[in-house]
Amino acid sequence: MLVFVVNCGSSSLKYQLIDSESEKVIAKGLCERIGIDGRLTHKPTGKDEVVKEVAMPDHKAAVSFVLEALSDTECGVIKDLSEIDAVGHRIVHGGEKFAKSVVITDEVMKAIEECNDLAPLHNPANLIGITACQALMPNIPMVAVFDTAFHQTMPREAYLYGVPFEYYEQYKVRKYGFHGTSHSFVSKRLLNIIGKENEESKVIICHLGNGSSITAVKNGESVDTSMGFTPLDGLLMGTRSGSIDPAVVQFLAAKLDCSLDDVLTILNKKSGVEGISGVSSDFRDLEKASNEGNKRATIALDMFAYRCAQFIGSYVAVMNGVDAIAFTAGIGENNISMRKKICEYLGYLGICIDDNKNNVRGEEACISTEDSNVSVYVIPTNEELAIARETVALI
Ligand code: AMP
Repeated sequence: MLVFVVNCGSSSLKYQLIDSESEKVIAKGLCERIGIDGRLTHKPTGKDEVVKEVAMPDHKAAVSFVLEALSDTECGVIKDLSEIDAVGHRIVHGGEKFAKSVVITDEVMKAIEECNDLAPLHNPANLIGITACQALMPNIPMVAVFDTAFHQTMPREAYLYGVPFEYYEQYKVRKYGFHGTSHSFVSKRLLNIIGKENEESKVIICHLGNGSSITAVKNGESVDTSMGFTPLDGLLMGTRSGSIDPAVVQFLAAKLDCSLDDVLTILNKKSGVEGISGVSSDFRDLEKASNEGNKRATIALDMFAYRCAQFIGSYVAVMNGVDAIAFTAGIGENNISMRKKICEYLGYLGICIDDNKNNVRGEEACISTEDSNVSVYVIPTNEELAIARETVALI
C-alpha cells in the first residue's frame, strides 16, 4: 500500500510517500513559504533532489505541486495519483476528544476544529492541509494521527493542574502532552527489544530534540509526560523555557512594559538553551562554544542535563521503578556527551553507560553495560512511519 504522509504547518508542508509493505520511503519533501512565495524541495529515493521556486498562494496549490512532482515523468515515483491508497495527516491537538487515530469524516473535521483554541498555531493549519488533500484526492481515505492521543491514558492525578476544578470542566485546562506519535513508536520498539510487549513493564522515553519531552510509559501506556497544556512546559528546550514559576510571566510583563502575549513569545522563542547561552538553540553549536570556554554555553548544557535527570527521577518515583530507558530525536539519537551527562545522574538506579557502546549516532543500540541495573537504549524515532502504520491499520 502507498501512504502519503502529510505534516502541515502554517506556511509549510512536509510529506513522505511510504510503501507500507517494505516500510521504505519512496519520496519525501517540503513546501516552504506557502502564502508568501513558495519553494518545493522534492527528494525521490534513488534520484537527485529537485528544488523548484513556484508560487504557492495557498496549501491547495502546495499539495497540487507535490502531487505533480510525485507523478512527474522525471522526478516522479508513481505513474498516476490513483496509486496512492491513503493519506495520513499529523494533527497536533486532539484535546480530550481523540485518544486514538481516526478515519477523517466531516464530524472528525468539526471535532478537530473545536480543538483550535488549544493549538491556535497548529490545528487550523492541519485542517487546511486536510481540506487541500480532500479537494485534490477526493476518493482517497484519510486518517488523522494526533500528537496528544498517546497521552490520553494519563491518570487524573497526573493531568490535572492545581487550579479551580471548574477551569478544567469549562475550559479543559489540563496537561495534554505532545510528541505522542514518537513516544508511542519508540516505547513500542523498546518493549519489543526488551521482550516485555505482553508483560508488566515500566519504561521512560526521552524525546530530546529542538522540542523535548520525557514520558513515563507503564504497561505500554503513557502515565505522565513533561509537556503540559502546551508544548512550552517541562524540559529546557532549544528556545523554550520549559517549566517556570507562572508568576514570572506577570513580573516580566511589568518590568519590560509589555503584554502577557509578548512574554509568552519570549518564553517560546527567545528562552531555553539559546536564551541562557546567547549562542544558539542548536546543541552542536553549544558544545563547540562550551569546549572553547564559553561559560554560558556550559551552563545551558548543564541545565538541560539536570532537568532531564529531574524528570527521569520523578517518573521512576511515580512508576515505582523502571525497566529500561530510551533516548530518541536529534539530541537523544546523536549527542553522545549529553546522553552520558544525563545518565551520570542516574547512578542511584544502578545505571552504568558503556562509553564504547554509547559511541553511536542515529542508530539503534544498547548503550548501557552488561551489569547495568536498568538497560539504556538509543532508538531512532520515525513519526512519518508511525503515521503510515496507523493509517494502514485504520483503513
Ligand atoms: P530535532 O528537533 O529532533 O531535529 O533535533 C534538533 C537537535 O538535534 C539540535 O540541537 C541538533 O544539535 C541535534 N542534532 C541533530 N543531528 C545531530 C548530530 N548529527 N550530532 C549532534 N547533534 C545533532
